[in-house]
Amino acid sequence: MGENLNIEKLRAAVTGEIDAQRHQLSELSLKIHANPELGFHEVKATAWLTRYLEENGFSIERGICELPTAFRGSYGQRKPTIAILAEYDALPGLGHACGHNLIAACAVGAAVASKLAIDQLGGSILVIGTPAEEGGGGKIINSGEGVFNNVDMAMMVHPGVYNVATTRALANQSLEVEFFGKAAHAAARPEAGINALEAMLNSFAAINSLRQHIKDKARIHGIITDGGQAANIVPAHSAGSFLVRAEDNTYLDELKERVLNCFIGAATASGARLEYRWGKTRYAPMRNNLTLARLFRQNMQSLGRRMQLFNLSSAFGSTDMGNVSQLVPGIHPIVAIAPKDVLGHSPQFAEAAASEAGIRGLVDAAKALAMTAVDLVANPEIAVKVKEEFKQSK
Ligand SMILES: [Zn+2]
Ligand SMILES: [Zn+2]
Repeated sequence: MGENLNIEKLRAAVTGEIDAQRHQLSELSLKIHANPELGFHEVKATAWLTRYLEENGFSIERGICELPTAFRGSYGQRKPTIAILAEYDALPGLGHACGHNLIAACAVGAAVASKLAIDQLGGSILVIGTPAEEGGGGKIINSGEGVFNNVDMAMMVHPGVYNVATTRALANQSLEVEFFGKAAHAAARPEAGINALEAMLNSFAAINSLRQHIKDKARIHGIITDGGQAANIVPAHSAGSFLVRAEDNTYLDELKERVLNCFIGAATASGARLEYRWGKTRYAPMRNNLTLARLFRQNMQSLGRRMQLFNLSSAFGSTDMGNVSQLVPGIHPIVAIAPKDVLGHSPQFAEAAASEAGIRGLVDAAKALAMTAVDLVANPEIAVKVKEEFKQSK
């Protein structure tokens, strides 16, 4: 009983701490929003975030994994080690249209408040600063460098249009394709040319045919980045950029081969030479730890924000948090900051990421993360359950 009271007090203390920091956290997120930086170039954001952590007693390692804008902030030495992940990259042309400015401030706010629990009960809190979520796969690089080796669980919250404790994220790999043909006068000597653009167009046609016969949640999409130089020259070169996504890694492997065959077929038909390169980093599907997700949801609901465990109508994307969730138990809940009809990666979402609703989402998410950290350090049996579930779902 006495212990329960103590936990309740700690919960109140961490949420109180976030209320006390609300102004600073809001300023921090608005400053990042007003200074959007693309993946791997988030110099200002990392400077502001690490300064905030340092001022609040965290020790900081900058430039981890040879990524200048990746960092680790640590507080406490004992187990369990709870990692809270921060994203802070923006989108080209749209600024913070994915709301990563909110993720960043939420992560550092939650971590600083969690210190109160660490001081009383032990455990440690890490903030992992993960650059370039939008395509660069910062967390995949971090994972490869062993950043999560001693981590017991990893959490982050992403803004969206629903309150939902789990995320559906697809495995995803990029593909760069080039065709090399032969230039010729398009009217005088068309028979002498090899048309690299037609090879690309036939590849699209083949992929469109393939699309009818693939599994439900798989996605294939691409753009042409070079389609020739002039209409009166048979295009000697064409290039395209594609993404292939699937619900699991096994199907992604199968689909990759079938997509590649579309290009190989088009190369054979046209006589153009094909060169291709799969992206080095593959985004893994999200493996939601339901023990953690339920705990987070309960804490979020205690703040008066209704949250679903699953939302089958929520959109699919891909996130490099998927890769982290394959290594350690993890969650990536979504907190609503805009009405359901607002699209992610749109100017309207960028606006929401700097709105009062955005700041409310940041504050609630930081509180729920910090309360979840309290639960994890206060109840070793929950931490054990989280790990068991992870082992069993492997
Ligand atoms: Zn995004
Ligand atoms: Zn995002």
